[in-house]
Amino acid sequence: MAQVLNYINGTLQHALSGERLDNIEPATGQIYGSLPQSSDNDVALAFQAAKNAFITWRQTTLEQRSALLARIADLIDENLERLAQAESKDSGKPLSLAKTIDIPRASSNFRFFAHALTQFSSEAHESVGQNTINFTLRHPIGVVGCISPWNLPLYLFTWKIAPALAAGNTVVAKPSELTPVTAHLLAELCQQAGLPAGVLNIVHGTGASAGQAIIAHPEIKAISFTGGTATGAHIAKVAAPMLKKLSLELGGKNPNIIFADCDYPRMLEITLKSSFANQGQICLCGSRIFVERSIYAKFKEDFVSRVTQLRVGPPNHEVDLGAVISKEHRQKILNYIDLAQNQGGLLLCGGNKADVPQHPEGYYLEPTVIEVNDHLCRVNQEEIFGPVVTIMPFDSEAQVIEMANSVPYGLSASLWTSDLDRSMRFGQQLESGIVWVNTWLNRDLRTPFGGVKASGVGREGGFEALRFFTEPKNICISYKP
Ligand code: NDP
Repeated sequence: MAQVLNYINGTLQHALSGERLDNIEPATGQIYGSLPQSSDNDVALAFQAAKNAFITWRQTTLEQRSALLARIADLIDENLERLAQAESKDSGKPLSLAKTIDIPRASSNFRFFAHALTQFSSEAHESVGQNTINFTLRHPIGVVGCISPWNLPLYLFTWKIAPALAAGNTVVAKPSELTPVTAHLLAELCQQAGLPAGVLNIVHGTGASAGQAIIAHPEIKAISFTGGTATGAHIAKVAAPMLKKLSLELGGKNPNIIFADCDYPRMLEITLKSSFANQGQICLCGSRIFVERSIYAKFKEDFVSRVTQLRVGPPNHEVDLGAVISKEHRQKILNYIDLAQNQGGLLLCGGNKADVPQHPEGYYLEPTVIEVNDHLCRVNQEEIFGPVVTIMPFDSEAQVIEMANSVPYGLSASLWTSDLDRSMRFGQQLESGIVWVNTWLNRDLRTPFGGVKASGVGREGGFEALRFFTEPKNICISYKP
């Protein structure tokens, strides 16, 4: 049984109430462990530990801080197999994905910010002719809160924690209650790395209890959150009147736009991934596929044929799709598939629970393709966050830009074309934080990451993250010439 504990002031411990929650394995539908159900008392304890640790952590030299973060990255690499096994079991994702994407990225996050903090600098502004020099200090904020979702558990958890620590803050963090295990293992690795007590504190439990206590804590001055748009809006409502700094990475409904002049085989290969990787549970998945009419019939046939060959099964087998995160989430996805058909959508493949004989109680779903005739239908407007994509044809650039932008979200977009001028035109006009041309999920950690519209506020990545986790202070000196 995987027994998860809170990590507070350097020690692994139960919630003060002793209360625990079941942890369910999506692949089997069975309870296989438990975690603390923490409350505001546990968050208060974690906050106090973080507050005490801040006094010395903010004064550590950049070399010391960098070496500690790099040590954690090394330990993640050394424990790749164990962490990947845990991540796959906890979330239902294929083990191969956890081994090649999730866990390597978690160590890259720590290593990247171990380096970035040594290169981060502030600015000076000379007021020429006025005998005045301004220089800007970038101080850590203090104790910050980091809250992450279940789809890329350790990947997104560390994407927040690493820059927060690199910038000299101390942290109270909460992973999703649905996927707590790798955060627990990270705590053990932080102990092993010699991270000083209280610098990182991990509090487990539900969003309504542990998460709410973090966002409502009056002295936790910044919140970095990744999750659903409704939760993000709630966090803003609670935190904004307390004048907290907020970074909100929220949902997406990303367009995948395919022109006839694209590199077709490459596009097809990557479109399969951008549609169904991690069972479609990546905020960056392209869930609305728009195809130029001249190749629409061919694409439809080729794509559906490839999708029906995707293997769904136990995540520790050679499969393309594992299980979705929970029974409730699977039902939500199935409801959307019904809704799509009620609104005139045509089911081209999938649409049902997938039959996995080894685990009849697991939360499996067939990868699903739906042809729609109205880009404004609900299934094209609302985030499903599962292995479901829609396809529809388009006739002109202007039409597809209009359709692509006609959603509340604006996280990412993919464009497939060999026309450089067109890629620039789309890059300028698509309403999203990220535009990929002839690629997908291609990330350089130095680049800004985040969305517009209902996909969020603020940017992560590179120095953007270090700017978020620091408070600029300008010092203005007037001198006698
Ligand atoms: P949720 O918004 O439900 O949860 C995200 C995190 O917030 C979880 O840790 C959750 O806890 C916690 N939480 C829930 N309620 C509160 C609250 N009142 N106060 C504080 N914390 C709370 O999202 P999901 O976990 O369902 O994740 C899926 C969503 O995440 C999708 O919409 C997806 O698009 C988005 N996402 C966005 C990304 C981006 O970079 N823009 C990347 C990845 C995902 P618990 O689960 O324990 O209840």
